Amino acid sequence: MTTQTSPPTTGRTALTGVRVFDGQELSAPRTVVIDGSVIGTDPAGARIVDAGGAVLLPGLIDAHIHLNGLDTLEQLCSWGVTTGLDMATWPPALVSSLRGVDGLTDIRSPGIPVIGPAGPHAHFGMPAEAVVPDWEAAGRFVSARVVEGADYIKIVLEAPGDGGPDPVVAGAVVEAAHRHGKPVVAHASSRGAYALALEAGADIVTHIPNGEPLGDDMVARMLAGRRVAVPPLSMMQALAALHGSADAFAAASDSVAALYRAGVPVLAGTDAALQPGLPQLVVHGESLHHELELLVAAGLSTVDALRAATVLPARHFGLGDRGAVEPGLRADLVLVDDDPLTDIRATRTIERIWCGGVEHTPAPALRSTTPPAATDRTTSA
Ligand SMILES: [Zn+2]
Repeated sequence: MTTQTSPPTTGRTALTGVRVFDGQELSAPRTVVIDGSVIGTDPAGARIVDAGGAVLLPGLIDAHIHLNGLDTLEQLCSWGVTTGLDMATWPPALVSSLRGVDGLTDIRSPGIPVIGPAGPHAHFGMPAEAVVPDWEAAGRFVSARVVEGADYIKIVLEAPGDGGPDPVVAGAVVEAAHRHGKPVVAHASSRGAYALALEAGADIVTHIPNGEPLGDDMVARMLAGRRVAVPPLSMMQALAALHGSADAFAAASDSVAALYRAGVPVLAGTDAALQPGLPQLVVHGESLHHELELLVAAGLSTVDALRAATVLPARHFGLGDRGAVEPGLRADLVLVDDDPLTDIRATRTIERIWCGGVEHTPAPALRSTTPPAATDRTTSA
């Protein structure tokens, strides 16, 4: 699905009468100025959009996606997902072509991930350099990704004996990444892989086991090690359904609840991906709204679910220019009709989207259910 894009906004836009989500609660109705690509303060000469009390959210961040092309960015944007944190895409030229596209969803990427010689991911058609055989190769792998512009390093871990990278390689990858100042995101979809991720020193762990609870010990180690979790519940739910074991998803949801109760940062990520020749299990954009609903179903408050897709991923991925509605930050904004603090499903009631200051119309699926309420008028003030 592609979105219809309005022409770039060149001047200022003042959104009046918006109730702003400030990371904790909604403000009283006030004015927010979009000044070029950033949030400004001076409404002089601005086009006025009277929001009539609608809710303004920071642009949403999906902390686990995979990229296909420009259409990925357009689709994410049309659902209010203004930042996408890729978790493995190649070739490097494709990733480079999708970086810094003006007025569209902004991405970060690790490029090619580390995989083991024989794990399930060895059969996904990954490039040969993804297999890192020993600690010396780990250093070379990380240097090559840094040269390509990787924002972080991704390593796909499996339970011991399942063909993933061995503990020596995993530890060496983390050490090399940290030497370059890059955080490490570890894929871990079993308890064994989780333990390996913690042992290796990965900063962020993505996925969460289906069918087996993470357990109090692992949750305590996540907290003690100040690790961050990105459990793509949308993908875990889809995989459980695909394997005819919908019950297995309950364990994943319970583990997220345990991490959240313990105080481990939980970020919203979906694992939206499109693999050639395979049915798409999780679609870009719409899935983040589903993910927020799954996080609330797991026990997160609506405020913390919204934080999981705004301020927290900005903080833990070092994106200091976004994640909140504040002057000077990127003008990534989502105007929604209803209050998601009351009902998280209200994030779907999108009226307008700004991505780096450029206004976009919501996805057709949203437009058909959400009549626009905001009205435009131009002022010479
Ligand atoms: Zn993934």
